Amino acid sequence: MSHIAFIGLGNMGSGMAANLAKAGHTVHAFDLSPEAVKRAEAAGARGVDSAANAVAGAAAVVTMLPAGKHVRSVYEGEIFPNAKPGTLMMDCSTIDVATARSVGEAAAAKGFDFVDAPVSGGVAAAEGGTLTFMVGGPEAAFKKAEDYLSKMGKAVIHAGDAGTGQAAKICNNMLLAIHMIGTCEAFALADKLGLDRQKFFDIASKASGQNWSLTSYCPVPGPLPSSAANRDYTPGFATAMMLKDLKLAMDAAATAGASTPLGAQAEALYAMFDGLGGREKDFSGIFKMIDGSWRG
Ligand code: NAD
Repeated sequence: MSHIAFIGLGNMGSGMAANLAKAGHTVHAFDLSPEAVKRAEAAGARGVDSAANAVAGAAAVVTMLPAGKHVRSVYEGEIFPNAKPGTLMMDCSTIDVATARSVGEAAAAKGFDFVDAPVSGGVAAAEGGTLTFMVGGPEAAFKKAEDYLSKMGKAVIHAGDAGTGQAAKICNNMLLAIHMIGTCEAFALADKLGLDRQKFFDIASKASGQNWSLTSYCPVPGPLPSSAANRDYTPGFATAMMLKDLKLAMDAAATAGASTPLGAQAEALYAMFDGLGGREKDFSGIFKMIDGSWRG
């Protein structure tokens, strides 16, 4: 079993670090928040007082940080200068493709194995060890990372070269936003037409309107007891997070010259819901803005 440095013990990182410790690894855990470090200690990790100390002597490093600027500063300022040669580095944060590529290139130039490995699945999947990892980086680094990532997830998929893990993540989430909004519009129209929600769910689930937002994350209360709609849209996957991912997708589309009109519309609608006070609500709560019942 290995000595692993884990940096970023927030909503997602805390469960992931706990699963690595549960698998028998020695996890040296650091977060800027001392409370988060204490929680990690209670879950079997060894708390340390800096990222540099977490990395010293580690065979592998996992980072789970808010955004690209945090990832760049932690890698350049603390991880690269303190890691031993050949250390495997896995950044599981959701960040922009350009930063993922440039941090990956800097790591390779210093002789480290680096993968971008963002996740699909929320806090429950992080705690339950059922995340899906989409991994960008050289084949050899992927092979090494797979061992560790599989302790935190149910699927580990190699997307291609550096940055393609992040590319897969933002393309997937742009698609998710679009079919969630489409599903909400269909329910709002069904309501106005006097169609029973359960009947519409039963029919569309078996017809060509079938999609994940409908059958696994139904945005209206009733048809699917596990969905956030049944708990007043408590996340789940918060609107703020979806908006972050849509902004990353739109920045990437502008840089790559891709035409994404529905993605742009989805970003505008989620920005509106965010502005109306929906930031902390589950992203499926946009249903209430679409059907006009949102009161903030
Ligand atoms: P979070 O804000 O709960 O956790 C981030 C943690 O990083 C915080 O505890 C913060 O103190 C710590 N941190 C920030 N800068 C640091 C530094 N310099 N050194 C050490 N620690 C530092 O966020 P989260 O919900 O855990 O999400 C983490 C990443 O995972 C994000 O990129 C997010 O987009 C992505 N993600 C989140 C979800 C979700 O459902 N929450 C799902 C998929 C992906």
